[in-house]
Amino acid sequence: MVKVIIVGAGPAGLFAAHELADFCDVTILEERDHVGGSGLYSDGKLNFHPRIGGDITQFMPEDDAWMLISYIKQIFSGLGVELHPPDETGVRDLEAKAIKAGMRFVRIEQSHIGSDHLPLVIGRMRSKLEEKGVEFRLRVRVRDLILESGRIRGVETAEGVYPADAILLAPGRIGSNWLVDLMKRLGVGMSYNPLDIGVRVEVPNEVFEEIIQGYRCWDPKFHIHTPSYDDFSRTFCVCPRGYVFKEAYDEEVFGVNGHSMREKGSPNTNFALLVRISLTEPLENTTEYGRRIAQLANTLGGRRPILQRLGDLRGHRRSTWERIERSYVEPTLRDVTPGDISMAYPSRIVRDLLEALEILDRVAPGVNTDSTLIYAPEIKFYAMRIETDNQLRTAIPNLYVAGDGAGVSRGIVGAAATGVIAARGIKASFSGA
Ligand SMILES: Cc1cc2nc3c(=O)[nH]c(=O)nc-3n(C[C@H](O)[C@H](O)[C@H](O)COP(=O)(O)OP(=O)(O)OC[C@H]3O[C@@H](n4cnc5c(N)ncnc54)[C@H](O)[C@@H]3O)c2cc1C
Repeated sequence: MVKVIIVGAGPAGLFAAHELADFCDVTILEERDHVGGSGLYSDGKLNFHPRIGGDITQFMPEDDAWMLISYIKQIFSGLGVELHPPDETGVRDLEAKAIKAGMRFVRIEQSHIGSDHLPLVIGRMRSKLEEKGVEFRLRVRVRDLILESGRIRGVETAEGVYPADAILLAPGRIGSNWLVDLMKRLGVGMSYNPLDIGVRVEVPNEVFEEIIQGYRCWDPKFHIHTPSYDDFSRTFCVCPRGYVFKEAYDEEVFGVNGHSMREKGSPNTNFALLVRISLTEPLENTTEYGRRIAQLANTLGGRRPILQRLGDLRGHRRSTWERIERSYVEPTLRDVTPGDISMAYPSRIVRDLLEALEILDRVAPGVNTDSTLIYAPEIKFYAMRIETDNQLRTAIPNLYVAGDGAGVSRGIVGAAATGVIAARGIKASFSGA
């Protein structure tokens, strides 16, 4: 039987194993002591769309991409995830409202698992894979690959070598630096992905109630081209009845993020408002640029996230606790420093964010009031894109990559889909197809 080693037990690795288990002898090596990857720390908002959380139409025609998304959806449904078909009339209404407001509403079928329920779903996936014969080796960090005569013969770990006929690397964002070093040494090409810089916005639940409850859109996605700079900005990761939290980007820099639970809720909805940044010569390294901005914000905030009332940002003044207490929104994250975001962010980004909020207010009235709270930094770093063919095979014939670490996805469903694409590539390469 063909022996496949998968590095990383996140959504990409798990869904690849699911695809391969009936045909190959599969072992997943995972450096942490649990299965689920960074997906396990999320609140499990699932976006069933081929261009959200990555773009799988770059690997296959549009119709096939939708079929793959539908296949992933069925697997999640088999794991007990409830699917909520969109309210057609409501969605059309919202699309029309968005167009009239000068932006685009992206219709997506979504599910929300909840951070409190996600471990259960991942536990079911693990049991299912183990029943199919997949072996999990936890607390095993892969250090290197063994290359002989142009093919990978196995992987090297502290506890020895695992031989394999094919290898899939799905190490997530956390393993992306390791992956980049490895690819450099193997001579595999790479390119920089764009970066998303923005803030976490917090408003009372009432502001998004009509969209979320009325139109049944759990995580509404609005795409806006800002008037002054024509920059692409968007809402992302909307967390109804949610909480803002501090998130470490690496050992030195941190930002904010948000989550919602199923059983517990706050009076606020939070969401990320992000601006897309692509860089060209002489600085193409978007990660370096984003890190510098995060570092500056972290320093200004005295090693805490910065919190500012929208009214203060517009009024060119720093927020203070006294001004924040006057706001109608009570912050769900209090370990913050009231400050001035415009001291840390380039004025172009601040302008983009202010304009995006103005436009958004036309469909979510109340989002652009002085009381709205803004936390910074919130930056979405994307790993370097590893060069592959359409089956996610690198220049080395039996070496495949998938998921966020390879720069080909940015979300649970996207990562899962790329895992399936790579797995199908591996199957095809051994069946002579
Ligand atoms: C706080 C937070 C909230 C999020 N919320 C959502 C959400 O609501 N919806 C959504 O779609 N997405 C969300 N995401 C993103 C989502 O979690 C990722 O897109 C997804 O988990 C990526 O899957 P992956 O398999 O590529 O990588 P990961 O899930 O990161 O898994 C990679 C695994 O590889 C392991 N690994 C790395 N290097 C090695 C090595 N050398 N040897 C062995 N093992 C290794 C890691 O330990 C890790 O477990 C969120 C992410 C975060 C951090």
